[in-house]
Amino acid sequence: MKAAVLVEPGKPLELQDLSVSKPGPHEVLIRTAACGLCHSDLHFIEGAYPHPLPAVPGHEAAGIVEAVGSEVRTVRVGDAVVTCLSAFCGHCEFCVTGRMSLCLGADTRRAPGGAPRLTRSDDGSTVNQMLNLSAFAEQMLVHEHACVAINPEMPLDRAAVIGCAVTTGAGAVFNAAKLTPGETICVVGCGGVGLATINAAKIAGAGRIIAVDPMPEKRDLAKKLGATDAIDAGPDAAKEIVEMTKGGVHHAIEAVGRPASGDLAVASLRRGGTATILGMMPLNHKVGLSAMDLLSDKKLQGAIMGQNHFPVDLPRLVDFYMRGLLDLDTIIAERIPLEGINDGFEKMKQGHSARSVIVFDQ
Ligand SMILES: [Zn+2]
Ligand SMILES: [Zn+2]
Repeated sequence: MKAAVLVEPGKPLELQDLSVSKPGPHEVLIRTAACGLCHSDLHFIEGAYPHPLPAVPGHEAAGIVEAVGSEVRTVRVGDAVVTCLSAFCGHCEFCVTGRMSLCLGADTRRAPGGAPRLTRSDDGSTVNQMLNLSAFAEQMLVHEHACVAINPEMPLDRAAVIGCAVTTGAGAVFNAAKLTPGETICVVGCGGVGLATINAAKIAGAGRIIAVDPMPEKRDLAKKLGATDAIDAGPDAAKEIVEMTKGGVHHAIEAVGRPASGDLAVASLRRGGTATILGMMPLNHKVGLSAMDLLSDKKLQGAIMGQNHFPVDLPRLVDFYMRGLLDLDTIIAERIPLEGINDGFEKMKQGHSARSVIVFDQ
């Protein structure tokens, strides 16, 4: 099968022919239908985050189950599924206390020394799976706790973006911020995750939704998805938000991955407010709270993958789309073939489009 392989950081992905292993007892083989391009992929492609190479990136996918292992009970051949990188073991401290997105998922990978899930077709050498998924490929072999069956009526290109961007953004509102109807929120950064956050804030009944982005076209998209206000990300943005909301917002969500936007999120909070950082910052950077922030009861938290419980959350998000509440059509900027993947990441670097989704031949 064809896959986009990261051979060397900073170089374009290479389309190579790979072989995929047969499903083990708890594994699921999926024919990939669509996969979104996520900013986190770019961090690995550019080498900002290290990973054993060669590897196949891609972690925002949907597809159809082709085969299942002998012990798999959660999905069946022919099911439409969305994958999630939050593969969970089901029995560790995090899983049994309901925080499965924190699970390190050791049992969801093949044991070291065993046959790899992916190899090169020409010489049989190992190709590393990335984030338990490797979705920039025509097929994925994953643990059964890395995918969930969804409504078969759901279009799979739109289902794909739920797998990372929408789960993260919506989870930040529903699971991490636990926004109460009427509360105010600001969202820093209006890419795929930020737009999904804005849309979820509208669904949750936020009183005022303030979008912050330097790009005018992204501010327009933010308004289309439910932002009540959209402002430029200049040096006065926090002051503007505090004035607009008479003291700051209840919730600030950072969806960029830069220390400055994290600081902006904290500075826009009202007394007692909470800032949630979603973006992947450079590994040596920090965001913090000042003495006055602490005396004002402000809080700062991470929310990896929106603190999801994806087997429950994902089908609900699909339902929101089917009912016309979740506007995935606006979040997706373009559909491209696998061959266009490097151009897609070039566009992402320029910061213009919302979400590019690879659609595989059906
Ligand atoms: Zn992602
Ligand atoms: Zn676990």
